[in-house]
Amino acid sequence: MQFIFLGPPGAGKGTQAGILADHWQVPHISTGDILRTAIAGKTSLGIQARTHVEAGELVPDVLIMALIRERFGESDMKQGWILDGFPRTLAQAQALDELLAIFRQPHPQAIYFEVSTENLVNRMLARGRQDDTAATIRRRLAVYQADTTPLIDFYKKRECLITIDGNRPPDAVTQTLQEALLVNQSSHLAQV
Ligand code: AMP
Repeated sequence: MQFIFLGPPGAGKGTQAGILADHWQVPHISTGDILRTAIAGKTSLGIQARTHVEAGELVPDVLIMALIRERFGESDMKQGWILDGFPRTLAQAQALDELLAIFRQPHPQAIYFEVSTENLVNRMLARGRQDDTAATIRRRLAVYQADTTPLIDFYKKRECLITIDGNRPPDAVTQTLQEALLVNQSSHLAQV
């Protein structure tokens, strides 16, 4: 199982990716978590990423691709994975395609979490992360709209996008995801 969790900040991607990765025993790769750890540890990546993350801007593609390339080189990536918060730009999606070809990995299934702006803002304010101030939230939503929403069409055209109603309570979303992923798994197996 190879999945991309796509959707705005605050959509619940991280929560759901955590639950499903645990259940399916595959790595949950959150570029946001990797960046936060790097920033806290003041690593070279962290130092370069910090101002972008704090301003609610995207970290440059070249830095993100370097960390993703390194992560794909690890042995636990062979049995499947869930990418959460990556790709976030068309350039990242294209670079991911190239990387998957190099590592001889199949095309992933994209799951798009659709959530109303009101719910997104309320959820982000409630979780109170350091980059969850009112101004940064506004900026992150604008950046999402401009840079990440084109990916919805990108994966839709490829006929590998499943849209999930992320407005519902987390348990209901998990159940829908489990069902959708199982159907996806079995239809994929049927094609092999
Ligand atoms: P997240 O936890 O996914 O909301 O990410 C937190 C922040 O990390 C974002 O607001 C960006 O500044 C940065 N970030 C995470 N993933 C990416 C990515 N794929 N491309 C660029 N910046 C990213």
